[in-house]
Amino acid sequence: MELKLELKPISDQANICERPIIIAGPCSAESEEQVLQTARELSGMGVNIFRAGIWKPRTRPNAFEGVGSTGLPWLKKVKEETGMLIAIEVANVKHVYEALKYGIDILWIGARTTANPFAVQEIADTLKGVDVPILVKNPVNPDVELWIGAIERIYQAGITRIAAIHRGFSVFAQTDFRNHPHWQIPIELKRRIPNLPVITDPSHICGNREKLYEISQEALDLNFDGVIIESHPDPDNAWSDPKQQLTPADLKELLDRLVLRDPHVDNGLLLTIEELRTEIDELDDQIIDIFERRMQIADQIGHYKKAHNVAILQSKRWDTIINMRLTMGEEKGLSNEFITRVFRSIHQESINHQARIMNPDPEEQDQ
Ligand code: PEP
Ligand code: MN
Repeated sequence: MELKLELKPISDQANICERPIIIAGPCSAESEEQVLQTARELSGMGVNIFRAGIWKPRTRPNAFEGVGSTGLPWLKKVKEETGMLIAIEVANVKHVYEALKYGIDILWIGARTTANPFAVQEIADTLKGVDVPILVKNPVNPDVELWIGAIERIYQAGITRIAAIHRGFSVFAQTDFRNHPHWQIPIELKRRIPNLPVITDPSHICGNREKLYEISQEALDLNFDGVIIESHPDPDNAWSDPKQQLTPADLKELLDRLVLRDPHVDNGLLLTIEELRTEIDELDDQIIDIFERRMQIADQIGHYKKAHNVAILQSKRWDTIINMRLTMGEEKGLSNEFITRVFRSIHQESINHQARIMNPDPEEQDQ
């Protein structure tokens, strides 16, 4: 169901909210000189929201945990000198008070904090009666409800200038990404809260510099509203996230290459797109029919297994299915990740069907 939130743009300055919204700055504020140097360069190339971490949520102890409140006057200077709006992360009540005391323009809630409803509620309670824009990063785990819940807590505190940041999701296995983008999750967020701006964070999705452009362009192609990208004058020697930051000059090159597409389909194209969409709808209908038939066969096997007292899961058979499908998928240009996910779900659904046959719910049996 769609959630109707009455949201206002994150800034009164129309140019700042125009697509794409661009936020840039170092992962962490390290010194006055470093923030000022970065900010001057970024402001010169048209960036108007400056990010910098003051308190850093580090995974392991003994890493650099941010300069703390000492850095807030540096950011005030950045604002006075360049006119850029300043955005920092807050994770607790003290952070919020300190940030507001120094006139920070925009606060963001980090991924680890969004995952904790107690922490988000405390921040929301502190924000009652304060008119400050809040950006809510997705939680570290791929849970759209938890993300929406955090947004609702902030909204219910009376904040109307809210945007979401999509920074990817933690994964156990080593992948090409530091945090897997799982695009379907921010897509679902937009479906549920259509007027909520969603800003993509390619830096924390990638964890390196190589794919930053690709992810940024993909975000715009999917109609998201902007990007937040980490930039540092000397990325390799940054005190946090050295692998993923770009020099302001490299960031400029990336931004110049981005193509902004028309978010709406014009009339001439509409007909062709409508025809193609009809074709897709027909294919989707067929997929559902095929699933139905497949489950009917799984049910027959279930009855047979029950009659002969055979276990549901036959791992050898599952191994054969997945390997056959991976090979076939590759031949047809379908990624291993996609085939694995689709067949895992199909397999799980068959197991659920068979489990219901083996152990019928007594209530259902009575009916
Ligand atoms: C950050 O933006 O520097 C940060 C710590 O991000 P996240 O909460 O997405 O890990
Ligand atoms: Mn970072």
